[in-house]
Amino acid sequence: MPKEKPEFSDAMKARMRSNPPVKNPIQGTKFTIAISSAKGGVGKSTFATNLALALKKVGCKVGLLDADIYGPSIPKMLNIEEKPKSDGQKLEPIIKYDIQCMSIGFLTDQQTPMIWRGPMVTSAIRTFTQKVNWQNLDFIIVDMPPGTGDTQLTFSQEIKMDGAIIVSTPQEIALIDVKRGIKMFDKLGVKIIGLIDNMSFFIGDDGKKYKIFGEGGVKRTAEEFQKEFLGEIPISPEVGESGDNGKPIVEAFPNHEISKIYLKFANKIRSSYL
Ligand code: ADP
Repeated sequence: MPKEKPEFSDAMKARMRSNPPVKNPIQGTKFTIAISSAKGGVGKSTFATNLALALKKVGCKVGLLDADIYGPSIPKMLNIEEKPKSDGQKLEPIIKYDIQCMSIGFLTDQQTPMIWRGPMVTSAIRTFTQKVNWQNLDFIIVDMPPGTGDTQLTFSQEIKMDGAIIVSTPQEIALIDVKRGIKMFDKLGVKIIGLIDNMSFFIGDDGKKYKIFGEGGVKRTAEEFQKEFLGEIPISPEVGESGDNGKPIVEAFPNHEISKIYLKFANKIRSSYL
């Protein structure tokens, strides 16, 4: 069993305690839902994008905000190369597949060095939440940066979020960080809608289920913290291929087994909020 990391540092704890009582809602949307993960590479952006598309397919008006300033994925996942227009006051979101999208990747060069991005984080988040002309949306899906660090904290503290979904893979090492994520959202008063077990198994040519990364860990973690377990998403090559091609699976293959899982999540979210 990997050893549990220490709890939050004193500086982090102090910042959590200083949680401001008034958080800014994003103008132009009814609800803001954060998609979060403790680690990178577990499928958070894939989930955020496909959930946004699935919500659109069940009749909602949807925005997708890529808040991952260090590693934006949305431009590639949705194959967006154009730059947003601005009237000097507000930025216009880019519309793709009927979804209003915004990402730091639309504004900066992919090569912008990391050292320049740090100081941009807070102002970029403020710009994306207060100065984008989001229009008449039911939901904004926020693709959060991974982890429980500074950026995550700033975002959780300043923006009124109506719920968060935590995406994980079932490895023990990912679960340790998921627990930290749950504790952080609980301390900051952000409602956790539930946990998703992504890449939970693979179905081989022999029809058997292979639990490559272990079994049941995300569900057990949800139970331990009395959070809802939202379900499993299997590993499927079409998920990766469609993401790489700029047309995510829900848009490219709406009848695929995985797209149906996303539509089920979307219906659940729509009926619990609208
Ligand atoms: P994160 O946002 O957590 O860093 P990504 O969404 O970028 O992760 O996903 C990491 C990689 O895993 C991508 O190549 C993506 O296509 C792939 N991936 C995500 N979910 C699945 C899945 N269910 N089956 C197969 N590949 C997946």
